[in-house]
Amino acid sequence: NHSFARPETTRIITVANQKGGVGKTTTTVNMAASLAQGGLNVLVIDNDPQGNASTALGIDHRAGVPSVYEVLVEGAPLAEAVQPCPDFPTLLCVPATIDLSGAEIELVSLVSRETRLRRALDVYLADRDAAGEPRIDYVLVDCPPSLGLLTVNAFVTGREVLIPIQCEYYALEGLSQLLKTIQLIQAHLNPELHVSTILLTMYDSRTNLAQQVASEVREHFPDQTLVTSIPRSVRVSEAPSHGQTVISYEPSSTGALAYREAARELSERAARG
Ligand code: ADP
Ligand code: MG
Repeated sequence: NHSFARPETTRIITVANQKGGVGKTTTTVNMAASLAQGGLNVLVIDNDPQGNASTALGIDHRAGVPSVYEVLVEGAPLAEAVQPCPDFPTLLCVPATIDLSGAEIELVSLVSRETRLRRALDVYLADRDAAGEPRIDYVLVDCPPSLGLLTVNAFVTGREVLIPIQCEYYALEGLSQLLKTIQLIQAHLNPELHVSTILLTMYDSRTNLAQQVASEVREHFPDQTLVTSIPRSVRVSEAPSHGQTVISYEPSSTGALAYREAARELSERAARG
């Protein structure tokens, strides 16, 4: 019943905001689950040492499990770290383990330290093609709350950036630094990179402040901001403790409906928002 249009080519979307707790991981896993439920092939790359996306997708990410760490630091093929998500047959995930917490420092001394994730993904997608496996429609990369080398790798990998913004007082603080970083990456490492999508998260329409922040964001980014915003919903925050997205945990909750609607909107927009 939820069928999304396939994009012409693989859309690679980096979900970033250097602020913690704004809904990056929640957005990554629930958009991914919605797209997968809509019949698309989706790959989530958990690029945050906390491994919250892996947890929410029910993916084994105990220390030692092949993960984005082996890919980034040891040069392992991405295919060796890809796991299927138990709840969605067309959703794949490259988990993050605790090992990734050292990667930020280990990467500094490695060659092509900024492009390692990009190369690994390029090879993975090309190998799938060559093997006649179904094309991945969406790649979503979850980022840690910083602008270090892990996030830089995610920006070099992505063509689009999705910025979740929590509708609270300090929402726009730090946004100019984020945009400046994206501009630098675009100028020097990845000319295709652009902010295609902004999603308002944990939105409480009853407060004036949330409404003010929302309209300010829409004024600044009229083309990027999705019409759909995500309301605060207890079910959304409960789902990860069951190793689930809210899409499978409580499909009829307001949070699940909102994320499915946001995913539909994302899928209907051209890759260049
Ligand atoms: P980030 O990845 O940016 O650090 P998270 O996605 O982990 O942020 O979200 C931060 C916290 O807020 C988590 O505990 C999450 O469960 C909760 N949360 C996120 N979105 C919602 C929502 N729409 N309603 C209720 N809680 C939410
Ligand atoms: Mg997170």
